[in-house]
Amino acid sequence: MVQTLDYQLYMRWMISETPIKHTEIFFFENEGLKKELVAKFQKLFNLYQGSLNRQGKYGIKKATIFFNHNHSVNAKATVFNDHYLISINKGTICTLWKKFYLKSDLMKLEGLDKFDKVQSNAGYPINKLMFQLCCHFSFYHELAHLIQKSDYLTVGLSEDVTSSTNFNLERHVLEYDADAFSAVSLGTHLYQYIRDWCPNLKNGDAELIISVVASSIFVYLMLFESAKIPFYTKLDSHLHPFVRLLGIVHYMTDYIKHLDATHGVLNLDSSIINSEMMVCSKLISNELLDDQALTHLKVFFKKNTTDARNYNIELLELVSTNIDLAFNKRNIIAN
Ligand SMILES: [Zn+2]
Repeated sequence: MVQTLDYQLYMRWMISETPIKHTEIFFFENEGLKKELVAKFQKLFNLYQGSLNRQGKYGIKKATIFFNHNHSVNAKATVFNDHYLISINKGTICTLWKKFYLKSDLMKLEGLDKFDKVQSNAGYPINKLMFQLCCHFSFYHELAHLIQKSDYLTVGLSEDVTSSTNFNLERHVLEYDADAFSAVSLGTHLYQYIRDWCPNLKNGDAELIISVVASSIFVYLMLFESAKIPFYTKLDSHLHPFVRLLGIVHYMTDYIKHLDATHGVLNLDSSIINSEMMVCSKLISNELLDDQALTHLKVFFKKNTTDARNYNIELLELVSTNIDLAFNKRNIIAN
C-alpha cells in the first residue's frame, strides 16, 4: 500500500526553499475536477514523491514534485541549490486521462482483436495500464535528469521545445539516457503487471502486452509539440520522438527479458514485439492523434525508419560508455 502524502505540506516546503511561487502550483484538490481525477492526481503524487524521498543513494536528499497549470503536454526537471524539482504539466495528466484512461473500449478498435483477447484474460484493463505507464514514463524520465546532475539541470531541462535551437549532441545523449532509465523502470512495472494481473498467459500474450504499452508511449511522444516537426536526426537540441521510441522499446524489452531470465517463462521475441507495436501504434494513432501528426507518421514509416535505427545505435553506444549517466548509475547501484 502506497502511503498518502500531504501535497499542501510538500508545496509549502518547496515554496520556502525554492523560487517557485504559490501561483505556479496546480492544487488539484481545489480546481473543481471530477473526484476520480483528483484521486488519481493524489495517487500519482504519493507514488512520485514517495520515490523522490528514496533517492538519497544518488545524493538527492531534498526533492519535490509538483503539478503546474500549463495545459500542454510537458514536464521539467531542475535544481535550486540542493533542492531538486520535477514539474509536470497538468495538461500531461489530463490529456493522458482523456486519451487512455477514459477510453475503455480502445482495444475494441478494428484490427486490435488479439490485444482485446489478451485484455479479457487480464485482471486490469489495458487502457488504464497505458495511462499509468505513460504518466510513470514522464516521471522516471525527469528523475533521470535529476540523477544525471548535468550542468543543464540548473537552468532546467524541459521535455518539449517548439522553437528550434542548435544541434547539441550532449543534450541528445542526456535525453536518450533519461529515456533509457525510464524504460528500464517501466520494464519493472510492466513485469509486475504481467506477473500479478495475467496469471493465465498463453504463448505470445506477454509480447502483445509489451507491444501495446510501447504503442501508448509512442502516441504519448506524438502528443508533444515537437512531434509536429518533420523527422530529423542531428538537428535541434532535442531528439525527434521517433528516435526516442526505438530506444525506449529496446531498453524496456531488454530489461523485461533480463527480469524473466531467472524464470524463463515468457520467452520474449524482440522482433515480434517490434512488429506488433508498429501494427498497434498505427491503429491507435488513427484514433488518438490529429491529422498533422498522422501525416508525419506516414512519411516517417515510408522514408525514415533506417535513419532512425542508425542514429539509435549511435546513441546507444554513447550512453553505454558514459558512467556519469543515469542509466549506468542505476546499474552500478543495482549490482
Ligand atoms: Zn528530458
